[in-house]
Amino acid sequence: MKIKHIEHIGIAVRSLESAIKLYESKLGLKCYAIEEVPDQKVRTAFFMAGQTKIELLESTDPEGPIGKFLEKKGEGVHHIAFATEGLQENLDELSQKGIRLIDNNPRKGAEGLNIAFLHPRDTMGVLTELCEKPE
Ligand code: ZN
Repeated sequence: MKIKHIEHIGIAVRSLESAIKLYESKLGLKCYAIEEVPDQKVRTAFFMAGQTKIELLESTDPEGPIGKFLEKKGEGVHHIAFATEGLQENLDELSQKGIRLIDNNPRKGAEGLNIAFLHPRDTMGVLTELCEKPE
């Protein structure tokens, strides 16, 4: 298992529009893409902060993962994503080491990345995502 770098930080927001406004007009970052990921019931906006991506997540369905998170915890940091190689092998290795997985197999995330989530109960309460660029 080798983590290369932080791929992005995911932040749950109630309104993508007002969050983009904040990031652009106050923090001075530029939104370079907006993408809907129907699978995860979210709309996402992307920013680069140096080498690291910020992914703002707005729910498109109150029953989706971000909808439930906002209901329970309100706006805030939702997950940290690490870039890896050999995602499936990493998942198998972590599972063997006793880490519970939300995704046993990679699935498609935003920006065409293969992604999988680890269970926050086994990662000190931090929802952790592993990503891999497809070949
Ligand atoms: Zn993410």
